Amino acid sequence: MENYYAVLNYTDTHENDNDHIMVKIQLHGEKESVTINAMIDSGATEDFIDREVCDKHGIMMIKAKNARDSYLADGKPSAMGPVTHMTKVPMDISSHRELATFQVANLQNHEVILGMPWLREHNPTIAWNNKRIRFNSERCTTWCLKSSPIAYAVPKDEALEDNLLTRFSMVQAKKGQKTKNGPTASDLSVRVKKLSAETRVPIKGTPSAAGHDLYANEGTNVPARRQPIVGTGIAIGLPHNTYGRIEPRSSLAVKHRLTPNAGVIDSDYRGEVKVVQANLGDQPYRVEKGDRIAQLIIETSTT
Ligand SMILES: [Zn+2]
Repeated sequence: MENYYAVLNYTDTHENDNDHIMVKIQLHGEKESVTINAMIDSGATEDFIDREVCDKHGIMMIKAKNARDSYLADGKPSAMGPVTHMTKVPMDISSHRELATFQVANLQNHEVILGMPWLREHNPTIAWNNKRIRFNSERCTTWCLKSSPIAYAVPKDEALEDNLLTRFSMVQAKKGQKTKNGPTASDLSVRVKKLSAETRVPIKGTPSAAGHDLYANEGTNVPARRQPIVGTGIAIGLPHNTYGRIEPRSSLAVKHRLTPNAGVIDSDYRGEVKVVQANLGDQPYRVEKGDRIAQLIIETSTT
């Protein structure tokens, strides 16, 4: 029998911002500890951690006896795929320490989601208006707390940007290992700024992808043999010793002969990242707002 269960009762766009908040957590992996922002979400029926976060920080994954397909509450298969592993990892939230249990999934837009199981177990009192979390259950005061029972939420924008920065440095950490005397991964953090509220921030299409997908922030007609400029609605801050390359997405290039032109971003460029979208084909193409149009690859300069 297939083990269907609802994963998250929301989609990517949150209509109602009141049932989830971001909080700073510390996870203690085998290799190292990492500070990251988790989403507390009463709409999530499980507690989740992103597979990439586990891989990077040496958080041991345990194979689940039965892989479970994850389904959204509307019955549609979830993009995160089947849940095949779980993990137990020491986690601190302010002075609250526990051995947390997570389902490992490809979350893409999140790193850690503390859902209903976690909320039920620790039963914190959350003041949703001033974003204050108080661990005052008997369990927490007996077992989890070292000192203060209070933790504060992190403003959501700040939290998401923080986490994104962790993901970018992850790409660099892999490349950085090849450079003997080159900069260390920590020198290579990239800042991303959303220039409008509805902008989509670059994410990795798959955990193993080399680049981060860039999204069109405006609908644009791309006539045959022309190359209009498409805004992405983001600005990035690259470290001095790096540059960004805008590369085609293979599906657009193959299917529609669309490819970005002249796509290099210097480290001191702070304006909007724009994609010169060249149409090499004979058919016009329409890029819609929110479409993935190119990918961003960050590389270390050799000069
Ligand atoms: Zn607790």
